[in-house]
Amino acid sequence: MISLKVPHHGNPWTLDIDSAWIAWLTFDLKGEKVNVFNEHALAELEMMLDQLHADERIKALVLTSGKRDSFIAGADIEELAKIKDDEDARAKSQAGQTVFEKIATMPVPTVAAIHGACMGGGLEMALACDYRLVTDHPKTILALPEVNLGILPGWGGTQRLPQLIGLAMALPMILGGKNIPGKKAYRMGLADGIIAEAFVRQQGADFVERVLTRSGRAKVMKRRAKSQSRVMKMLQANPLGRAIIYRQSLKQVLKKTNGNYPAPLKALKVVQKTFRRRPIDQGLVLEATYFSKLACTPISRNLVNLFQASQRAKKAGAPDVKLELRSGGVLGAGLMGAGIASAMSRAGMAVRLKDISWEALGKGLSTIAKGYKGRVKRRRMTQGEMDQAMLRVAPTIDFTGFANLDIVVEAVIENMDLKVKVLRELEDSVGPDTIICTNTSSLPLNDLAAIMKRPKRFIGLHFFNPVDRMPLVEIVPCKKTSKETILAAVQLVKDMGKIPVVVGDCPGFLVNRILIPYLVESAWMFEEGIDIERLDSLLEQFGMPMGPMALVDEVGIDVGYKAAKTLESAYGDRMNVPSALDEVAESGDLLGKKNGKGFYIYEKKSKKPNERVYRLIEEARRRDGISPRDIPDGDVIDRAILIMVNEAARCLEEHVVDDPEALDIAMVMGTGFAPFRGGLLRYADERGVREIMHRLEEFEQKYGERFKPARLIEKVAKSGGRFYSNN
Ligand code: NAD
Repeated sequence: MISLKVPHHGNPWTLDIDSAWIAWLTFDLKGEKVNVFNEHALAELEMMLDQLHADERIKALVLTSGKRDSFIAGADIEELAKIKDDEDARAKSQAGQTVFEKIATMPVPTVAAIHGACMGGGLEMALACDYRLVTDHPKTILALPEVNLGILPGWGGTQRLPQLIGLAMALPMILGGKNIPGKKAYRMGLADGIIAEAFVRQQGADFVERVLTRSGRAKVMKRRAKSQSRVMKMLQANPLGRAIIYRQSLKQVLKKTNGNYPAPLKALKVVQKTFRRRPIDQGLVLEATYFSKLACTPISRNLVNLFQASQRAKKAGAPDVKLELRSGGVLGAGLMGAGIASAMSRAGMAVRLKDISWEALGKGLSTIAKGYKGRVKRRRMTQGEMDQAMLRVAPTIDFTGFANLDIVVEAVIENMDLKVKVLRELEDSVGPDTIICTNTSSLPLNDLAAIMKRPKRFIGLHFFNPVDRMPLVEIVPCKKTSKETILAAVQLVKDMGKIPVVVGDCPGFLVNRILIPYLVESAWMFEEGIDIERLDSLLEQFGMPMGPMALVDEVGIDVGYKAAKTLESAYGDRMNVPSALDEVAESGDLLGKKNGKGFYIYEKKSKKPNERVYRLIEEARRRDGISPRDIPDGDVIDRAILIMVNEAARCLEEHVVDDPEALDIAMVMGTGFAPFRGGLLRYADERGVREIMHRLEEFEQKYGERFKPARLIEKVAKSGGRFYSNN
């Protein structure tokens, strides 16, 4: 085989023409872990395409990636964040469209050979090709996640995807950013063949050879056409059928977003106006127009900022020293311990999991296995990887093997005496350099540090439940914790693929300290007579992922109540728990979702308000001489949200975190606080801190001290400033 290599200085694309005159164009952005389309990469691609266009000897073009396990992650977010105005946005959209149009109009067959993540602009490029091949590897994921950044696919995605796989399968991808694994892409007709990662080149060439023949081409097209169901094809072929699909999609989007996110609505509009109604050139113009209407909106800015901030948080720690954490230990194989051990093992570490009985360990191991099985099912992990990960977890009822561990996380029952005993035993069983972390959520960290012989190597590491799904971990150094220990904790969290936020030690740490007042305030409003469903629905409309009462049920009324009481005793009056909540919590069997009885009654997949809770509240009201009253919608939302803003300001004031961005990331990642609002403090800035202060003062008059504006709020409001610029 002759190989004609054309090197291009500074060009991320390498052209390689093989003996069969197949041009292989490989994308490998220098110095980056993944490929992203920046202006330069797009411009270079355009030049290479022009050159190939003119070369009559070329028989086919195959686009691939030079990165390991990653195809193209999408457009460069930095450039997206720098879009100046609507016109600039339109130009950016058109620039990509133009280049991809050149792929679409190549005179020879074009193929994208995809291994690894193929997202956003990467998928739009692949869609412009005549054919797509994918590897059957868990890392091969195809998606158009643009809506998550408040924009829509602006490089042809809204046009070519529905055309290729039909409306019914394309809309969930465009409107919901749905991830499609390689094999599924093949079943959907989004891909035309499955190749093995080790043989991309050979199998890619074989495929090209096939589609160069008429019969081969016909076979591929026939299979592709078959992947859409007949019903769907009929439905989308007529305007009434399409109207049904659009209506359903709209309903789903509104249900999911409460109408708070304009991007999926606009994307739906583009598809609706163009699919089967306009030729692609007109469709692309409309796509660019709608893209430009979204790219500079505050919502898109907020989502892009959050994305960048979480990327920065993931890069936190020691940029030049890569700490190697090879082995870890976990004490307690319960709810949290099993999750932590599972994440450690998935990060490739050898894990010792200790509990007091084999029965507890058995339960822990089956929880881990269940989580992995789910991943295998969702194709996030292969069966082989699962087997390996299970083998890396060694259960034990004593401290065998702890002497050489790099890091240990203690996650036994929340009880001071027990933790003291366990930490002492642990410290005697590990090596002098082992880092010891505690996952306590409410015990004073510095009291625990005081009993340690090596407090320098001791730190709080607060995971959220369920560990498997929650991306945030609070890292809480004690007074004597060394810098190396903090860095190691940050590294562990990053190795687990989670986001670390370093916070100061205070009751509730950062996230619960801010979240619990929100839940408690909701309980106050419930006691005052607000209906549970109305309360939840108003806060969902604000953008919270679920209402506060449903959240308490989710967390467990017992767990939530205990946390609220801990904060009440730590912070006093401003976190007073209403007696209505005492009533519910002390009822004994109202535990929330876990036993099907909480503020709601859970039956199968539905829930309805629990009449018993209403009766309990009425009794509490009678006893306390409270008569129910109505609260206007705006006040319900403001009382719940602004009490969080107030506490967040106190956290900044007390340096629990110094950076509003870290606080916002923590609240979005730890509680799901409305991402489109950019975070709690970003919301406060946009709303105006002065207005917030006035509202707090008004509530202070009406409802008492707990709304007294924090000093920082007064300071920022008086200077007319913002949280973000004031820090
Ligand atoms: P859990 O009751 O589910 O599990 C605790 C486990 O510790 C049990 O399996 C128990 O047998 C084991 N254990 C008891 N004594 C032990 C000993 N001497 N050595 C080893 N194991 C022992 O509790 P959990 O919910 O997993 O909580 C564990 C810790 O995590 C607590 O400190 C809790 O505050 C904290 N935390 C919990 C949550 C949550 O939502 N559940 C969230 C964040 C942090």
